[in-house]
Amino acid sequence: MRLAVIGTGYVGLVAGAGFSDFGNDVVCVDLDADRVQRLCEGEIPIHEPGLDELVRRNLDAQRLSFTTDTAAAVAGAEVVILAVGTPQGDDGSADLRYIDEAAKQVARALTGYAVIVTKSTVPVGTADRLRALIQAETTQPFSVASNPEFLKEGDAVNDFMKPVRVILGADDDRAGTALRALYAPFVRTNDRIMMMDVRSAELSKYAANAMLAVRISFMNEVALLAEVLGADIEKVRQAIGADPRIGPKFLFPGPGFGGSCFPKDIRALAHTARTAKAHLEVVEAADRANVRQKKVLGTKVRAQLGADLSGKRIAVWGLAFKPETDDIREAPALTLIADLREAGATVVGYDPVAMPNVKAHLGNAIEYAETMYDAAKGADALVLVTEWKQFRGASFKRLREAMRTPLVFDGRNIWDPAAMRELGFTYHCIGRK
Ligand code: NAD
Repeated sequence: MRLAVIGTGYVGLVAGAGFSDFGNDVVCVDLDADRVQRLCEGEIPIHEPGLDELVRRNLDAQRLSFTTDTAAAVAGAEVVILAVGTPQGDDGSADLRYIDEAAKQVARALTGYAVIVTKSTVPVGTADRLRALIQAETTQPFSVASNPEFLKEGDAVNDFMKPVRVILGADDDRAGTALRALYAPFVRTNDRIMMMDVRSAELSKYAANAMLAVRISFMNEVALLAEVLGADIEKVRQAIGADPRIGPKFLFPGPGFGGSCFPKDIRALAHTARTAKAHLEVVEAADRANVRQKKVLGTKVRAQLGADLSGKRIAVWGLAFKPETDDIREAPALTLIADLREAGATVVGYDPVAMPNVKAHLGNAIEYAETMYDAAKGADALVLVTEWKQFRGASFKRLREAMRTPLVFDGRNIWDPAAMRELGFTYHCIGRK
């Protein structure tokens, strides 16, 4: 099939490369000329395991190409995938200016029938709105459909190539048939395609993210309670996760959720619900609990070192919003760094891949260390925020020698409290002593 993908961010790039790997002829478009230039040379602008190889293989096979020219990409395409950003607007709603603009550009470039699919996360009713926008710009026939994306950053290639489910929202048979054909190779073993109307598809994406966000916020609140009551959240987590009705995933307490999706998506969903006069109390509470949770590590540090952190050097391990990605959007580490700096501390950050993004965002506001142990040199405290694998098996001897004071805050409960204390650390974590 001939495809055009609009937007080459985490979603568009993975989708474009993934579809081309199944033999489709894919042209990916981005407004960012520098990004397109790098991609044409096989250089991947984001950290995503397995993506380099996938892109290069399909560039070499000439099934995948990159351009800034929407008209050239869309001319003759049977399916056009919109994968541009839908960031948070000022009032919490999704800011749809990029997807509106992309849809209009696509409309003007149509040369015949195409299915225009939103893969971006968009509020219920967006496809209907885009249909009207496109109609105003073209006389060509088209369908608008919804195919929300469920990939996880850090495991995006796997998730895309072996989806646990494919949600296809189509309000007409022609669009439904084309999309089913596009995804058939991905689901050969068993059919994980779920066909539905467009509005249900749009809502499914937000509902899935909201459910996961609620689980995390719930566990973070129970962790705070466990701490106050003298219980161990890790024992509680295992106890409740063993119940098959609950399951073990997404029950890990931590410093709050970040990333480019959960925070903005739950706010957009709550906004949609408020507009529809059908308030989502649970979702709104999950957001409030998360805003509070992102302050937890800073509060713990100040409780130990005092409200005034002037003259204190604090090392932060893990800056990306989660492991295996360089994405720092809404990362809990950024909230912690802001809190520590506000209290006067000098912050030294280390992350295996996200430091260039943090530097672009914070500049010289913090120091950057070449290695995890360099970050800890002379530190009055270490805070682990993102649970990269390399931190799990850290050499505590080296860490102990590097630090001025052996004070550790483990924001992900990856280390054993008793073992850490035996090694001479003053150890704090989330939801247990
Ligand atoms: P991103 O910000 O990484 O990338 C968006 C890209 O679109 C940018 O490179 C931008 O230059 C480009 N762009 C904007 N307008 C354009 C236009 N008119 N023409 C061509 N290119 C244009 O975004 P992302 O993280 O890939 O997310 C995209 C969408 O997918 C969002 O709606 C997001 O909520 C959703 N989503 C993201 C994830 C994720 O893990 N990142 C997962 C599922 C869904």
